[in-house]
Amino acid sequence: MTDEKDNSRMPYQLPFPKDALEEIVVPNAVPEDERIWVPQAENVWFRPLCLNRSQGYWMNLLRVRKSGVLSRHRHPQAVHGFVIKGKWRYLEHDWTAEEGGYVYEPPGETHTLVVDEGVEEMITMFQVNGVMYYVDPWGEHQGYEDVFTKIENCRAHYEEVGLGGDYVDQFIR
Ligand code: FE
Repeated sequence: MTDEKDNSRMPYQLPFPKDALEEIVVPNAVPEDERIWVPQAENVWFRPLCLNRSQGYWMNLLRVRKSGVLSRHRHPQAVHGFVIKGKWRYLEHDWTAEEGGYVYEPPGETHTLVVDEGVEEMITMFQVNGVMYYVDPWGEHQGYEDVFTKIENCRAHYEEVGLGGDYVDQFIR
């Protein structure tokens, strides 16, 4: 019994697999340094947390400081969202994602993200898998984003604001 108790706080004693990647720890996920927010459109920014090029997904915070239609897009793969601040909705659904809420967007969804009047700031953590495939109301392709365009955006922005292009490397796995 005493042995078990002693063991309970003992760290795992074996080495990790030699090919395992390093963990990522981000102390201020919602950053105080404004330069960390990467501009993505007027009054829209994202903050990278994990840019997983080996599995083709990215984890980021999306921040919006305006009302209106943000984007219409299709998801070939699932998306997970957690609303940290404010609220938003999709024109195609009758629910609103609100502060503290979780959203699962299944593969096959095409929807139009809207932030309504009166919301000063919206921040949501999204895990986006594969691509954001931007479309018009009839599904015609307008553009796309994937983990590689995200990495490029970050690198260019961090270079420009003086953090250095390699600032993004800490988020890449
Ligand atoms: Fe979406």
